[in-house]
Amino acid sequence: MTPEDHPRADAPVQDRRLIIVANRLPFTAVEEGGTLHLKESPGGLVSALNAYFESLHTQPGREREYLWIGWPGGTVSETRRDELTVKALEQFHSHPVFLSQEEMDAFYLGFCNKTLWPLFHYFPSYCSYQEEFWQQYLRVNEMFSQAVTEILKPDDIVWVHDYHLMLLPKLLRVQAPDTPIGFFLHTPFPSFELFRLLPGSWRRDILEGLLGADLNGFHTYDDAQHFLQSVLRILGYEHQMGQITTPERIVKAGAFPISIDFTKFSEAVDAPEVQREREELKQSLPRARIILSVDRLDYSKGILNRLQGFERLLETHPSLRERVVIIMVVVPSRIGVHQYDLMKKQIEELVGKINGRFGNVGWTPIVYQYRSLSFAPLVALYGLSDVALVTPLRDGMNLVAKEYVASRHDRTGVLILSEMSGAAKELGEAIIINPNNIEEIAEALREALEMAPEEQRRRNAIMQDRLRRYDVVRWADDFVQELTSMAQAQNKFYAKLLPRSVAEQMAGDYRRALRRLILLDYDGTLVPLVRHPDLAKPGPDVMGLLRRLSEDPRNTCVLISGRTRETLQRWFGGLSLNFVAEHGIWIKEANADWTMLAPHTNEWKPALMPMLQLHADRLPGSFVEEKEHSVSWHYRLADPEQGQWLAGELTDQLVNFTANMNLQVMRGHKVIEVRRTGANKGGAALHWLSRKEHDFILALGDDWTDEDLFAALPDAAYSLRVGITTTHARYNLKGVGDAIRLLAHLAEPPPAA
Ligand code: UDP
Repeated sequence: MTPEDHPRADAPVQDRRLIIVANRLPFTAVEEGGTLHLKESPGGLVSALNAYFESLHTQPGREREYLWIGWPGGTVSETRRDELTVKALEQFHSHPVFLSQEEMDAFYLGFCNKTLWPLFHYFPSYCSYQEEFWQQYLRVNEMFSQAVTEILKPDDIVWVHDYHLMLLPKLLRVQAPDTPIGFFLHTPFPSFELFRLLPGSWRRDILEGLLGADLNGFHTYDDAQHFLQSVLRILGYEHQMGQITTPERIVKAGAFPISIDFTKFSEAVDAPEVQREREELKQSLPRARIILSVDRLDYSKGILNRLQGFERLLETHPSLRERVVIIMVVVPSRIGVHQYDLMKKQIEELVGKINGRFGNVGWTPIVYQYRSLSFAPLVALYGLSDVALVTPLRDGMNLVAKEYVASRHDRTGVLILSEMSGAAKELGEAIIINPNNIEEIAEALREALEMAPEEQRRRNAIMQDRLRRYDVVRWADDFVQELTSMAQAQNKFYAKLLPRSVAEQMAGDYRRALRRLILLDYDGTLVPLVRHPDLAKPGPDVMGLLRRLSEDPRNTCVLISGRTRETLQRWFGGLSLNFVAEHGIWIKEANADWTMLAPHTNEWKPALMPMLQLHADRLPGSFVEEKEHSVSWHYRLADPEQGQWLAGELTDQLVNFTANMNLQVMRGHKVIEVRRTGANKGGAALHWLSRKEHDFILALGDDWTDEDLFAALPDAAYSLRVGITTTHARYNLKGVGDAIRLLAHLAEPPPAA
């Protein structure tokens, strides 16, 4: 694929339509009495994006077209689908992906909520690894891909949301190679040790799915690091400052902590509806200090721990009895999933136990409500609560914590927040607790109830300023901005890809030429890099290609490699090829003997070997390779992180040790090599370059040892580096496949006249 095959859309960033793809649309479609209604369905993502969309409409200079793609909820009969599609666009800027209730259930309640959700929230014992769930996940991601592809236009920007659609970026990338695609994960990304619990092919597919995006966003720096670590350990791609270079593209991973519509919450106190709710609540609430607890029913939220902490407070501080009340709102969620039903029972039992143990006729310690609140009563509750107790065992962000702080108009109120929530990274002025430590929760409650109002205001002022500056619009703006700049970086990355026009010109020049010189690196150029050098033996295709090239009397074909003479002889001895071995130390013309380009001694080798051997002993999977005039330490098979670490250390030691010697220390693809200075592929190529006038020169290589070769070539030569990276070569090719196709095209007989 070349830039010419897929010209990138050049529309100004601001003019590009933004396509949001999420599991659910911002409404639920219901058929009632023969009429189709679209009912707004609130949720964290919906409120976040609505605030962003509103800013696009209301703030001058920010106009941008947008479209939301997702499942409309419920089952809509076939005959109403067109009507729904029209209404969804008119009323909600939306486009429905039609899935049956059964498909959605198997997908959502299966792989999403029985595999990914518990795993990503550090509850591996709740995970179910069923092939059937996985297959459904694949299918639904493919259905989304199809739906998005059908309406995608060349200038669109795509932003995919959350763990339901992690395969989608790659599926879309295949269809739309040049569309800027971003992905945001609204849950934590677990550490490698948890992520690896997924069966091998699933975890690879998920990571590769995500690498189809230009930008992957996470709530916290730790989540981004966990993702990068899994990419390195599972796919072997390294990164620099969060930028991963895959053989085909660059992908960025970064932290974009989601926020709230700060103004909406901070100004809500003045809204008549909220004031009315507040007055009503005041009448019904007991005269006591109020601790608020609001969450969806989920085992990740630590609701039981919270109750135990409160129980401990009442045990250890009898003076607080009758003076405090917890308002506990538990929002129904994922009804019918075993763990959720069980948890509801446990919560209700514990509430009953605590109320029975401490309560009396005039005082119920826990006011428990199993229901969902709309905006006005929720904000009224935020406003009336002296303390918000937020104790998730694991939470991607936790918006309730941010909303509580934003709603505190007079800046009083104390937030107690679990260190296991993403929000704790931003709200450090809260009382931070470990939710597994019941004593700590009880102690935090005591501290909160006793905290002086000035101290409460001091802390909240800092947190409110932070939330006001980085609100939800800023979050979305930052993400979209970074996504578009990544797409531009991608353009630069592709800038040196061999264009089709040059490939055609090269083929023409090749056909006309009579004295061609073809210089080919082997590993990483004609065959992919493999785990152990011995496994890279050429197959019949590569042998056939080299035979065709070398048998053409117009060609001088040189295999120019870092391999030993012995290996080249063994593998390619039957072909009339010219060879360069050990990166330029030895050369051999076809039908002649090996000669050393500049003789020298190997006395240095015994002095260096122990240093390399020590590293091989220290790092399982790494090994030392000794060639006649060079030694290398390979760590491709070893743990990638330790390998990177020890490679840095070994390079330092070797560079110091060889400072006064005529030796060169070089780092290649997961290998460090020491060899004599001056012997390189460029010098070896000169042997053929200087012998006669060539009318066509082509050189292909894939790593830094080939850079000497590219630098030694005349301007008219075609030089190509396999893999996309900065190079002296005139052009890049994406991978070994492209190199082979290009050579095969040259080697095929000319079309019949
Ligand atoms: N929420 C609501 N009604 C309720 C309880 C919560 O609308 O009765 C909202 C709350 O305002 C917040 C969201 O639900 O925006 C919960 O987000 P959070 O990040 O705290 O938890 P999640 O449910 O996403 O895990």
